[in-house]
Amino acid sequence: MAGNSLNSVDPELARLIAAEERRQADTVKLIASENYVSKAVLEATGTVLTNKYSEGYAGKRYYEGQQVIDQIETLAVERAKSLFGVNHANVQPYSGSPANLAIYLAFLNPGDTVLGMGLPFGGHLTHGWSVSATGKWFNAARYGVRKDTGRIDMDEVRELALEHRPKLIFCGGTAIPRTIDFPAFAEIAREVGAVLAADIAHIAGLVAGGAHPSPVGHADVISTTTHKTLRGPRGAMLMATSDEHATALNKAVFPGLQGGPHNHTTAAIAVALHEAAQPDFKAYAAQVVKNAQALADELAGRGFDLVSGGTDNHLILMDLTPKGIGGKPAAKALDRAGLETNYNTVPFDPRKPFDPSGIRIGTPSVTSRGMGEAEMRQIGAWIDEVVTAVAKGDAEDVIARVHQEVSDLTAQFPAPGLS
Ligand SMILES: *Cc1c(COP(=O)(O)O)cnc(C)c1O
Repeated sequence: MAGNSLNSVDPELARLIAAEERRQADTVKLIASENYVSKAVLEATGTVLTNKYSEGYAGKRYYEGQQVIDQIETLAVERAKSLFGVNHANVQPYSGSPANLAIYLAFLNPGDTVLGMGLPFGGHLTHGWSVSATGKWFNAARYGVRKDTGRIDMDEVRELALEHRPKLIFCGGTAIPRTIDFPAFAEIAREVGAVLAADIAHIAGLVAGGAHPSPVGHADVISTTTHKTLRGPRGAMLMATSDEHATALNKAVFPGLQGGPHNHTTAAIAVALHEAAQPDFKAYAAQVVKNAQALADELAGRGFDLVSGGTDNHLILMDLTPKGIGGKPAAKALDRAGLETNYNTVPFDPRKPFDPSGIRIGTPSVTSRGMGEAEMRQIGAWIDEVVTAVAKGDAEDVIARVHQEVSDLTAQFPAPGLS
C-alpha cells in the first residue's frame, strides 16, 4: 500500500478530485474570497511535512526532530515580516476564524466588549456576530454603513466606541467594496483605549501588492487568511508591531487555542509569500482592482445597483432588487451558466440571509488566469443576460448559450495550478 498513488489506492476519491479540478478549470470563478494557488504552493502542501508534530515555536518545541521544521517556520515568519513590514508574525493559525479567536483570547476576557462591523453590512462572523462564539461569549456592539452612501460611517463608529467603550475594535470584512480607513479607526481606538485589529483576510494580497493602503503603523494587530487575494494555501497569520502584542498573540495561538501547527501549510505559506514578494505580484494586485472596476462599470451601465456605487478593491456587491430577482435564484442560474458567484445580503436587506437580495462577485481568480478588462466586460454582459432571462422566467436557452461561450473563454485562459 505504502508506495501506491491515490489513483490506485482510492480510485473513487481520485475521480472526485479530478472532477473538481475539471469544474474549476471550466468555470469562471467570481467568488471574491477564492483564488487559484500556483503549482509550487500545491506541491508544498502535499508533502511529508504533514507527518511532523511541532507544538511550540522555533527553538522552543515540545517534540524532538525539529531541525528542518524550525527552518521552514522561520522562513515563513521572516518572509511575512518582510512582505508586510511588521516586526512580528505568527503563521500557525489554522485558518482565519481561529486567528481571530486568538485575538480575543490575547486581549479580552469573556463578557468584555468588542466593536465590529455587523455581518449583514459586510463584517465577518468572528467580529462579534450573534451566532458566533465571539458574539455569544463577548458583549458585541456593531457598526454598519450609511444608507445613502453604502460606506462605513466613521462618525457612527466613534459614537458607538464612546458609548460602549470596547476593549477591541475590528475593522475589515468580507463584503466591503471600498478602501478601509485604517488611520481613522486607529484614532478612534486610541481615544477609547481599545486594541485595534485590522482583519485583512480579503485584501491581504492587495495590501502586499500595494493596491490597498496598509494597516501597518495604524492597527495594533493584523489578522489575515492566506488563501484569498494573497493566493496561498488555506491558512492564516497574525501580525503585530509591538513586542507586547506579539507575545500575547503567540501565547493565545499556542498553547491558548491550538496544538501542533500544520507544517505542510506553513511551508506552502512560505512559498506564497515568496511569490507575493516578486514584482509580477504587484502587477497582479493592480490588475485585480482594474478588472473589478471594469466589471463594475459594465454592470452599472447595464442597470445593476452596486452597493456604494462601485469598488476600490477586488469585489463588487450588488442588490438585484431592481432586476426583479433575489440573489439566490440569480446565483444558481449563473452557476449553471458556468459563472460562479455567491448570494449575499446587502446593507439594510429586507430579505433573509439564506435568501438575500444580492450577489457578491470578485476578480482575484479570473485575474490569476490572466484575464483583463476586455474579458471583464464580456463577463458583465453574460451576468446581465442570464440574470435578465431568469427574472423573466425564460432562461434555459440563454444559460446553455452562455455556458458554451464561458467554456470557450476558460479554454483560452488556463488556471494556475490545474493540469
Ligand atoms: C474569510 C474571512 C475570515 C475567516 O477565514 P476562514 O479561513 O474561513 O476561517 C475572517 N475574516 C474575514 C474578514 C474573512 O474574509
